[in-house]
Amino acid sequence: MDDLYREVIIEHYKNPSYRGHLDPHDIQFADNNPLCGDHIEITLQTAADGTVKDARFDGHGCAISQASADLLVESIIGKPLDEVKQLNKEHILDMLGIELGPVRLKCALLSLKVLKAGVYGLGEASDSLVE
Ligand code: ZN
Repeated sequence: MDDLYREVIIEHYKNPSYRGHLDPHDIQFADNNPLCGDHIEITLQTAADGTVKDARFDGHGCAISQASADLLVESIIGKPLDEVKQLNKEHILDMLGIELGPVRLKCALLSLKVLKAGVYGLGEASDSLVE
């Protein structure tokens, strides 16, 4: 792993800017990655114009899962929900800037899976959301 990117991940893991829980919220979803023990909950407030007014994540798990969630939440505030629905794994991988094996990829993509399941109003999150 490249040192610069590793530092970014550790910084977001140790000092997340968007950790928390919005109450009230318009969208809430949570899920686990059983392979690693990661848990992520995302809460969103939406604006009347269909954009993300504010967002937070909460949870626990490995550095990649938590740093990805912080980066993801930061990247969607102010964005149209329609745009959020189109996000795929490249968005996360671009922000992390590292190559990940299949196990770590699950960690990295958990927050996106949770976010998209919430925005789409699904009962459960599936891996196909982040392909
Ligand atoms: Zn993990």
